[in-house]
Amino acid sequence: MTAAEFAPVFKTFVEAHDRFILCGHIRPDGDSIGSCTAMAGYLTSLGKTAEIYYEGDLTHYEMIPQPVGRLDPLTVSDACRKPFAWILLDCAQPSRTGQGQICAEHCSESICIDHHVNMGEYADHNWIDPEATSVSEMLYRLFKACGYPLGQQEATSVFAGIAFDTGGFRHSSMTPEIYTIAGELAAAGVAITDVMNGLFHTKTMKEQKVLGAILRKARLYRGCIVVSEMDQADLKQAGATSDDCEGAVAVIAETKEAEAAVFLRELTNGQIRVNMRSKKYIDVAEVGRAFGGGGHVRAAGCTLEGPMLMAKQQILNELYRQLPEES
Ligand code: AMP
Ligand code: MN
Ligand code: MN
Repeated sequence: MTAAEFAPVFKTFVEAHDRFILCGHIRPDGDSIGSCTAMAGYLTSLGKTAEIYYEGDLTHYEMIPQPVGRLDPLTVSDACRKPFAWILLDCAQPSRTGQGQICAEHCSESICIDHHVNMGEYADHNWIDPEATSVSEMLYRLFKACGYPLGQQEATSVFAGIAFDTGGFRHSSMTPEIYTIAGELAAAGVAITDVMNGLFHTKTMKEQKVLGAILRKARLYRGCIVVSEMDQADLKQAGATSDDCEGAVAVIAETKEAEAAVFLRELTNGQIRVNMRSKKYIDVAEVGRAFGGGGHVRAAGCTLEGPMLMAKQQILNELYRQLPEES
């Protein structure tokens, strides 16, 4: 489905409601925050009421302007008492929004705009485009198709979302057209240096130290899968929490020899959260789905039961299945 085809469905949906709750996925990233804030800007410009539920920390994304109020696990259930329509962005399943899934029971109508592969079609209206770099790119096209000119706030949100999901306009999902879109957004007044530095080149001192520990622990398996892991003892030793490891997988994925990169971290409940990246031929989304997670061909995740050693072996076994015979 193209943006032009989805635009009439979207317009009718927006016209039918006055109040909207927007949700991205848990542990919000640049694209889920960018798309929620861009959508909130669009809705408020039409005189609608919008609120966003984020589950997780936003401190790495302070360069993305927040045009509306933020709901938390308590206020989201209160917000569900009055009539509202639900917009799911950058995830296709209510459970991926964490506590936001309460909206599924109470909303009068729902819409989902997503670009993850094979995650189903939950909402009343779904626009899923796995070819899109990001949901932010999809919104850029959608607003254009609706004849809505993006202001500085929405342009910054959409730019940040595209930049984030393309790893700074670098991933294999990039096309010449995306550079043109980025140029157009930049011309709308995006503070490019702040956004790019904030997304990719800013870490607290603690995060830098943790990264050091993660790199020291990295090992290469079968010559082409780089793996690092942090269990609770490692985190304690580094004086860090699992949140301080966000973004580590991108750094270990820079290993020249590696086709795939895996980062595993033990959460406080003993479960193991896994981030995966690949370069040319391994489909990490397939590996994620094998363990109830998912994502994209080149970037995916999942959460497994511990202990660490078992989780690592399970992930490696799935990855090995995709290696060419001779390796
Ligand atoms: P991450 O490694 O957390 O940056 O995630 C990489 C990509 O996979 C992102 O697009 C995530 O939204 C997606 N992803 C991560 N974990 C899951 C999961 N459990 N279920 C579905 N998609 C996921
Ligand atoms: Mn995302
Ligand atoms: Mn995304």
